[in-house]
Amino acid sequence: MSSGTIFGKIIRREIPAKIVYEDDICLAFHDVKPQAPVHILVIPKKEIRSLAEVGSEDALAVGHILAKIAEIAKAQGLERSGYRVVTNIGDDGGQTVFHLHFHLLGGRALSWPPG
Ligand code: 5GP
Repeated sequence: MSSGTIFGKIIRREIPAKIVYEDDICLAFHDVKPQAPVHILVIPKKEIRSLAEVGSEDALAVGHILAKIAEIAKAQGLERSGYRVVTNIGDDGGQTVFHLHFHLLGGRALSWPPG
C-alpha cells in the first residue's frame, strides 16, 4: 500500500506541494529538495509502489504519464537543452518514497553514470 506515503497525502491535498500539472491519471509537482534547476516529480494517482509493480493494466496510465512528462519538459523550456527522466526502484535503486514517481530533471548538464 502506498496510501500512507507522503505522495498519497499530496494527492489528497493533506499536505501542500507546488503542483505544475494534474489530470485524472497523474499529478506533477516540484520536488521539495531539487537536485537540478528543474526537478519535478510526476506520479500516478493510482497507488502503485514502484515500476516493479506496474501491471499490463497500468500500461496506458504509464504511457500517458511519459507523454505528459515530455509536455511538462517542453513547458519548462527544456526541450532544446535536454533533460533526464528517472524512476528509482527499491533500496539499491535509491527509492525512498514507495509510490511510483518519475523524476524530471533539467536545467543543467547531468553527469553519467549516476552515483
Ligand atoms: P526517490 O528517492 O524515492 O526516488 O524520490 C523521492 C523524492 O521525493 C525525493 O527527491 C524527495 O526530495 C522528494 N520528496 C520527499 N518528500 C517530499 C515532499 O513532502 N514533498 C515533495 N514535493 N517532494 C518530496
